[in-house]
Amino acid sequence: MKRTVDDLAAFGGTPLFDRLLHVGRPSDVDRRVLAARIDGAMERHWLTNDGPLVRTLEATLSEFLGVRHCIAVSSATVGLQLVAKALGVRGEVLMPGFTFVGTATALSWIGLTPVFCDVLPESHNLDPAEIRRRATSATAAILGVHLWGRSCDVEQLEAAARELSVPLFFDSAHALGCSHRSRPLGNFGCAEVFSLHATKVVTSLEGGVVTTNDSDLAERIRQARNFGFVKEDQTVALGINGKMNEFSAAMGLTSLEAYPGVRAHNVAVHAAYRATIVHLNEISLIEPSGPEWNYHYAILQLQEPDGFWRNAQHRLLQKENVLARRYFTPGVHRSAPYAESGHVPESLPVTERLADTLLSLPTGTQLSPAEAAAIGEFIAFCYAHRSEITDRLRGTG
Ligand SMILES: *Cc1c(COP(=O)(O)O)cnc(C)c1O
Repeated sequence: MKRTVDDLAAFGGTPLFDRLLHVGRPSDVDRRVLAARIDGAMERHWLTNDGPLVRTLEATLSEFLGVRHCIAVSSATVGLQLVAKALGVRGEVLMPGFTFVGTATALSWIGLTPVFCDVLPESHNLDPAEIRRRATSATAAILGVHLWGRSCDVEQLEAAARELSVPLFFDSAHALGCSHRSRPLGNFGCAEVFSLHATKVVTSLEGGVVTTNDSDLAERIRQARNFGFVKEDQTVALGINGKMNEFSAAMGLTSLEAYPGVRAHNVAVHAAYRATIVHLNEISLIEPSGPEWNYHYAILQLQEPDGFWRNAQHRLLQKENVLARRYFTPGVHRSAPYAESGHVPESLPVTERLADTLLSLPTGTQLSPAEAAAIGEFIAFCYAHRSEITDRLRGTG
């Protein structure tokens, strides 16, 4: 516990933690079960190409999400590309400026043009009014992102997609286990794409899953995932290698089994953070969009015009060995390769304010609720002493 500003690690004090606390460090799984699954794959000599573990993962996820088709893929990035290709999208795709850069680069890499739209200040998700503002004759699709696992305004986006006669699909990388109006995410638009990357709430190391209730679309994605093959030596379409391997599926299944416990743990972590900062006027923790939320992201939101204190808080936490992250700075439209492309709006005010004023805090089983409380108390302490800290930071550069 810090008593004076001199106790801060940034000013020579002892760090709050003697180990590094990361955002997105994988939560614990049952390692014996994992090892047995991997051993089984070795025993079968079946390591990839639609193996039994991949099929079990797909079936388990279909049931968990209440969706007809789950197609396991090598990453969400490839999943987004497979969906866009299978939908025949060519041209411009309307998407939020406030997301992980990979949402946009996945599209650019297959020759599509992301058109960045601003987001809503409350939900941090795509503003439907922006769709109408930025649509052109070249608009070919709408890509929503359920950021932090909080659902988009799905109905409004569906209405906009109908008006423009273009498909709607979702980057649901953050959203496994979350819902929209009591229906699990994974069931909306033409298709949704979840990430199972190691930083996500359920992980297959690298990996992703495409979900859809459209059987024809599912079939086309399955074919494209495996080089376009339908039979031993017959290809029907331009495919690619987007397959998930058996070790990844082993991890995915084991991680999915751990999910209820991980979620419960993160509920406690969130409660600890919230209790320690709830009395602060200008700092809050974002709220779930509904009862079904995975609690994977703990996002601190600061009310300030310029991001100075957010950046100071980020630096102060790092010195205490808390590796908080500034997701998603600076906003995709302001990052390479888009900033200089000449195809981006001059300014997306809400996106830019969020990029300047949010801070992601550690969650997961690496961190106990008591440690989350210590981080929250530290943030409250810094805030209480912000003028003294500001002077010293400015003085020491
Ligand atoms: C992680 C992430 C991706 C990329 O997922 P991969 O499985 O690593 O390709 C895409 N979009 C968002 C919003 C993400 O957070």
